[in-house]
Amino acid sequence: MNRYRQAKWNEPLLFEMSVKGRVSHKFPEVDKDIRRVAESIESMIHPEMIRAQPPSLPEVSELQIVRHFTRLSQMNFSVSSGTYPLGSCTMKYNPVINDLAANTSGFSWLHPLQDVSTCQGALELMWELERWLAEITGMDAVTLQPAAGAQGEYTGVMVIREYHKCVTNECEQRNEMLIPDAAHGTNPASAAMAGYKVVVLPSSADGLVDLDALRAAAGPRTAGLMLTNPNTIGVFEKDIEEIAEIVHDAGGLLYYDGANLNAIMGITCPGDMGFDVVHMNLHKSFSTPHGGGGPGAGAVGVKKSLEEFLPKPRIVRKDDGSFDFEDNLPRSIGRVHGFYGNFGILVRAYSYIYSLGKQGIRAVAENAVLNANYVAHHVSRIPGFTLPYSKDAPRMHECVISAEELKEETGVTAMDVAKRLLDFGVHAPTVYFPLIVPEALMIEPTETESKQDLDLFISALNQISRESNETPEKVKGAPHMTAVSRLDEYRAAHPKTLTLSWRMFQKQNRDKVD
Ligand SMILES: *Cc1c(COP(=O)(O)O)cnc(C)c1O
Repeated sequence: MNRYRQAKWNEPLLFEMSVKGRVSHKFPEVDKDIRRVAESIESMIHPEMIRAQPPSLPEVSELQIVRHFTRLSQMNFSVSSGTYPLGSCTMKYNPVINDLAANTSGFSWLHPLQDVSTCQGALELMWELERWLAEITGMDAVTLQPAAGAQGEYTGVMVIREYHKCVTNECEQRNEMLIPDAAHGTNPASAAMAGYKVVVLPSSADGLVDLDALRAAAGPRTAGLMLTNPNTIGVFEKDIEEIAEIVHDAGGLLYYDGANLNAIMGITCPGDMGFDVVHMNLHKSFSTPHGGGGPGAGAVGVKKSLEEFLPKPRIVRKDDGSFDFEDNLPRSIGRVHGFYGNFGILVRAYSYIYSLGKQGIRAVAENAVLNANYVAHHVSRIPGFTLPYSKDAPRMHECVISAEELKEETGVTAMDVAKRLLDFGVHAPTVYFPLIVPEALMIEPTETESKQDLDLFISALNQISRESNETPEKVKGAPHMTAVSRLDEYRAAHPKTLTLSWRMFQKQNRDKVD
């Protein structure tokens, strides 16, 4: 079944291909009139702002550039080449039509300093998207400013802080944020950045919020609880109403980490569960890929009582139906992003929701859940793999499988399994997260994988399980079919060992020569 082999190019850097004087485009000579216009524009620019030297860019032809990046992409992995079940990242296939919408020149050539009278369509799009996201999450108001999930969390937590400062007048005293031990690492980081002491709640034997532990922790020092539901092992917190009551009774607010809305959108919403604040990653569920460091959008929704604290400026619709920015918001936490957020991502989200409609959004969630349960059912029956916690509870958009038995029996670890999967043309799942599952493989198939693709994935894991018993060294030496084999996990992630720019590369080589 293994037909996969990644391309392996000995690809130089563009800088190394550079030939003095080579250009990508040769334009015809400009005529006198155009030159005069250009010179008069140049005369308006302060001389200090004009570069004395051209930037030292590689001098290459357009075809060289196209081949260079095509070859690099062939040595990489993407959702366009195979299944990408990276848990908690929702690496679904994003329809090209949403990219087309974002690339429409009226959107892609907008300048953020343009007069609002000239970009009414863009403002209307953002205004309407805010309302759709409010409806999907059951909130009353939304900001589109934050550029990532983590920044959305920070924004939401700052809103909670401002609420306690201005409304309950207990900001000083309420200095604790409650966070379950299975939470995404950004949750405690965001709470700490906002000045909160993080109180970790242990999970119950079912992998859910332990209600007794929550009751014991909630009190006059509680600012709020940050929760992911379905939680990080992919199970719905069935006691969510009671959880909300405990936190609210203690005077705290409920924060919903909605980075992954794929499980619930169109079916239920955090507003109905009792949450007060939610962030959602438009670059997961709403048609922009997560990962790879590209631009994102971590929209934040809040209940009415928190609206006045949202970042400014807000987009408003005036009585005459036109749109504008409102800056005069004295209780706002201020700006969290230059200008108005990552607009291109917002257009993709708008186009995605528009093209699916209410029923389509619900179908996304239903299929995402169906796929995750199909995978959980079959993979947990493969020797060496188990489904820890709440065995009988259905999984939502993802499932966490443990390879602990495989490790005990064969010495093959979750990391080895992830690496071997690459040889089958499948991206590795998230590994060793959440921390409460030993040898964790966090698998999120998403709704866009077909049954045939899921069956291929399951049979690859079946084969890896067999190999682990018969030829464990083959699994431990994987991957074999990729452009580069196993990387040093430490050096591959450490800024001190990475060469991140041409300038660094030149400096290192100079230092070597010296
Ligand atoms: C991805 C994710 C985040 C963080 O989102 P970023 O955009 O990467 O900052 C937070 N919480 C959960 C549960 C996530 O899956």
